[in-house]
Amino acid sequence: MAFGWIDEQAELRRRAGLVRALRPRAADTPLLDLASNDYLGLARHPEVTEGAARAARTWGGGSTGSRLVTGTTELHAELERELAGFCGFEAALVFSSGYAANLAAVTALAPHGSRIVSDAGNHASLIDGCRLARGTTRVAAHSDPDAVRKALDGHHGPAVAVSDTVFSVDGDAAPLTGFAAACREHGAGLVLDDAHGLGVLGDGGRGAPYAAGLAGADDVVVTVTLSKSLGSQGGAVLGPARVIEHLVNAARTFIFDTGLAPAAVGAALSALRLLRREPGRAARAGEVARELHSRLTATGLEAVRPDAAVVSVRAPSPEQAVRWAADCRAAGLSVGCFRPPSVPDGVSRLRLTARADLSGAEIERAVRVIGETRP
Ligand code: PMP
Repeated sequence: MAFGWIDEQAELRRRAGLVRALRPRAADTPLLDLASNDYLGLARHPEVTEGAARAARTWGGGSTGSRLVTGTTELHAELERELAGFCGFEAALVFSSGYAANLAAVTALAPHGSRIVSDAGNHASLIDGCRLARGTTRVAAHSDPDAVRKALDGHHGPAVAVSDTVFSVDGDAAPLTGFAAACREHGAGLVLDDAHGLGVLGDGGRGAPYAAGLAGADDVVVTVTLSKSLGSQGGAVLGPARVIEHLVNAARTFIFDTGLAPAAVGAALSALRLLRREPGRAARAGEVARELHSRLTATGLEAVRPDAAVVSVRAPSPEQAVRWAADCRAAGLSVGCFRPPSVPDGVSRLRLTARADLSGAEIERAVRVIGETRP
């Protein structure tokens, strides 16, 4: 029977307790949210939702075509200028998602005969970029500049190293200056995914590459998502103008995809302007994360020290992680639950995200619920 093998996979998943299901979120949910990536609490900010509404009224519900045909509005160009300026890069290109931006950056910068060095902890979208690229990928040990150096050794021709700046599962930061030094010794480019750094790290939220002194470098390309700290949807690649021009001409997820919806562009632009005006929001997200971490570890829980806004708490097993998250939910707290196969190391965890707008009382309640429901 066609698709019969799917049932076998489903049965294996069910027996391992690894079935995933969608749970539609109600608009007026009373849950305390430590699961979303809305790090700055901007997704429902009136200026951001008004930015989306205004853009939809002016430009329509969709962008009407691919970016090279009708899908580039003046609003797209404005966002690209302001995003590049904010993060310290020469130019930017907006994509329909961060996922598409990562596929674009890796595939377009790793031609046939090139070498790609990919950190072992990278996000799935970078991994998929490596799989789609014509170059050959070597996976380097996690956050290890020497491993990057060794993987680049002896290669002649184009080369890039690719890494998250803040790893999405454990929230640990990559050694960016070490990576840059390793790449420069070999004349290789560096592609950094700053999905979890933008809006949280760097002066006023300008991102991890800015904080590391790499913004604007001619050998560094950065990808971001508009869907986390900017409370919108979409993604972008930032870098030297010649790289951005290359992407316009060569990146398939740019050329063959419909342009980002105007509402998402408008929301991101409003969020970016708000962040410029209120730079303290970025530092606050980090403070909340550190406070969450220290309070959780004080109760004896094992949590990874956060470098940005993600706090990862170890769970004894996948089943217990699932039950723990469900018990938190029943007690009014929404937390993320990461388990195999989303985590390659087999270690299950609760994934908490700090939001700049969490109050002291909310942090206290979250820590109490997590402690009381622990396996
Ligand atoms: N990179 C990282 C590190 C991410 O965590 C995510 C989002 N889960 C993405 C890229 C993809 O971004 P988007 O959701 O905008 O497609």
